[in-house]
Amino acid sequence: MVVLFLHKSKRLLALILVLLLVFAFSGCHLPPPAPHLDGDGEEVSPELTVHFIDVGQGDSIFIQTDEQNVLIDAGERSAGEVVVDYLQGQGVTELDLVIGTHPHSDHIGGLIQVLTDIPVKEIMDPALVHTTKLFEDYLTLIDEKEIKFTEGRAGMVRDIGNAVLEILHPVAPTGSALNDASIVTKISCGKISFLLPGDIEKKSETEILDRGAALKCTIMKACHHGSTTSNSLEFLQAVDPEAVVIMCGEGNDYGHPHGEVLQTYCDLGIDIYRTDLQGNIVVATDGEVYSINTEKGKGPAEDYYEPGFELLGSVDSDKYHHPDCRHIKNIKPENKIIFKSRKDAEEKGYRPCKTCQPVG
Ligand SMILES: [Zn+2]
Ligand SMILES: [Zn+2]
Repeated sequence: MVVLFLHKSKRLLALILVLLLVFAFSGCHLPPPAPHLDGDGEEVSPELTVHFIDVGQGDSIFIQTDEQNVLIDAGERSAGEVVVDYLQGQGVTELDLVIGTHPHSDHIGGLIQVLTDIPVKEIMDPALVHTTKLFEDYLTLIDEKEIKFTEGRAGMVRDIGNAVLEILHPVAPTGSALNDASIVTKISCGKISFLLPGDIEKKSETEILDRGAALKCTIMKACHHGSTTSNSLEFLQAVDPEAVVIMCGEGNDYGHPHGEVLQTYCDLGIDIYRTDLQGNIVVATDGEVYSINTEKGKGPAEDYYEPGFELLGSVDSDKYHHPDCRHIKNIKPENKIIFKSRKDAEEKGYRPCKTCQPVG
């Protein structure tokens, strides 16, 4: 299912574009994204495609323009194969730039397989030392393959063909706060832009705000997998995105994304997309409008229901629950009520259960 969006200012004016995006599933070898058609049926190729690859708990984002292939992170080491298959499925034979946002395993782990299997011209990371076997293996590969290394710092700007890549963070990272050392990338193509902030926490969000960085973006990846360590209201208000993509694994140990953060996104009217619920999420744009294509599910996650998927509550409480929530067994059958959707539950005065954090 392809959901089409028109940039806010153009919503009423722009022609409806029909986008035919070929979706890649791991293991399949498919050609690069197909061109899409404008209202007159003329071919308009996407100028920029941003793929949020489902790697379970972790990040991996593939950015493709007319000229360059850029990869940001590759999930855990065990996800390396998934990322390589995905890239090869997109016809990628070489990566112009790989960014390892910070040395945590759910970001650089899969890069071992990527660097082994796919030629990489340049690698950028915060240039911090981290004493893990994984990090050693990563450095050894960069050395062995003689890949050009660049220290990523705020202020760097790159032309990547039809889009511009800017680094907004870090300025002076330290090894004692690896999440806050994350490289924050902004990608802009015409009127559409993306903020890809790795795992930065509130401290860095404040720093970036204080530096007066141009944060406003059309679509953002949730900071730190949608954790309450990050995603401060002030930061989200400055980014002011239309949609957020949360990259996290189903049933992960951290409870990501946190309910409080989901609530903030909802309060700000931001459409929520989630790799744990929707698999791979691909955004394509021609610089004017964009489309979001999800592997599973239809629209944004908050509107997403599987057939037969219903939210449940009790006439005795003000909470609503995911159908798998452990609290449901305590609801007497005669008290049970079923909501068609989150909106339905909220309109009836119910609030999300903190245990199951229902989003359906
Ligand atoms: Zn992470
Ligand atoms: Zn991290």
